[in-house]
Amino acid sequence: MNTKDKGFNTKLIHAGDFEDEFGAAVTPIYQTSTFSFKNAQHGADLFAGKEKGYIYSRISNPTIQVLEDKLASLENGFGGIALSSGMAAVTTAYTALLKQGDHMISTGAVYGPSRGVMESIFNDFGIESSYVDTSNLDNIRKAIKPNTKMLYIETPANPTIQLTDIKRASEIAHEHNIIVVVDNTFSSPYLQMPLDLGADIVLHSLTKFINGHADIVGGALIVKEEALYKKVRKTMVMMGGNMDPHQAYMVIRGVKTLSLRIDKAQASAMKVAEFLENHPKIAWIKYPGLKSFAQYDLAKEQMSGFGSMISFGVKGGHDAGVTMMNNVKLALLAVSLGGVETLIQHPASMTHAGLSAEAREAAGISDELVRFSVGIEDVEDIIADLNDALEEIKVDLIEEVALN
Ligand SMILES: *Cc1c(COP(=O)(O)O)cnc(C)c1O
Repeated sequence: MNTKDKGFNTKLIHAGDFEDEFGAAVTPIYQTSTFSFKNAQHGADLFAGKEKGYIYSRISNPTIQVLEDKLASLENGFGGIALSSGMAAVTTAYTALLKQGDHMISTGAVYGPSRGVMESIFNDFGIESSYVDTSNLDNIRKAIKPNTKMLYIETPANPTIQLTDIKRASEIAHEHNIIVVVDNTFSSPYLQMPLDLGADIVLHSLTKFINGHADIVGGALIVKEEALYKKVRKTMVMMGGNMDPHQAYMVIRGVKTLSLRIDKAQASAMKVAEFLENHPKIAWIKYPGLKSFAQYDLAKEQMSGFGSMISFGVKGGHDAGVTMMNNVKLALLAVSLGGVETLIQHPASMTHAGLSAEAREAAGISDELVRFSVGIEDVEDIIADLNDALEEIKVDLIEEVALN
């Protein structure tokens, strides 16, 4: 079905579909590594690109292609590339677009491993990187060098929920021929369309909102222009970070309910955020939907909804936060996010433990920060769970810290 002029929800269900010869209602899993050619000439034509078709599943596969075409349609890009994980998407983007002597500027508070792999592996290959607070556009301008080739933005950033102005940051980068990559994992195309705002490539951990059911790991890159798409796709095929057909099937199934899940989760997140903001044991909270959120106006400008990720600090700091995390019963104490189940975690000791204490501090990831991913359970139950866990924080723990 041609969904080009159709709405977002129609694209979620139908974009990328092909007509199955048996009339299957959903995309079948082509669980095959290789595809036979009709004859030697057919094989040669496929390799030469003279004919369309499938050769080998690392290069492309019908099930995976449905997902890739669907994601490209949702993000308004020329083409999609599905990968084995979000990190395979990150490393494929770095490898495709950066070479020895090049420089990259990135949001300081990015997903921990996106920074960790750059600083522990790519820097050793002679690629330079600067991690700055990209929420202040001046920091981007100041970090640009003659050899800067990539601006890598994560917004909202993980786990500080800090936003970067995609449109203006892209304008600055493009004045210097710098390619803009946006990690859109926290928002998904339902809430934010980076390519429409000026970015060149969108990156996703499909593991999170897009698949949404915490049952697979996957990643994707969606590229706006054909030439750049071909370059990145070729790198994926050579590096071998491809997705598996079964994984693709799961994501195709999961993504169909993206807007329903996000509508429900973000409505609940607003209520949870209001509950926390008014709770006497909460020191601070960051949620883009709160009027108290420093970048509320930017959130309204570039996002069509505020999402379901919340960060907060408990009075009593780190120890009080740990007490709270050990006493929630409904929320799972687990990393990852964007699934149907509510999750809670502690970035300083978990997802961002790989960063140095100084890097964490510079990125605004304090030891007390608790990250909360609101699921689609009944919001009354989510709030009651938080309330019960906060009860377990004894007042003297709070006062002790206040006295220090
Ligand atoms: C999880 C995540 C990644 C990495 O994805 P994986 O699927 O775990 O490899 C990258 N960016 C963000 C923002 C994430 O949350």
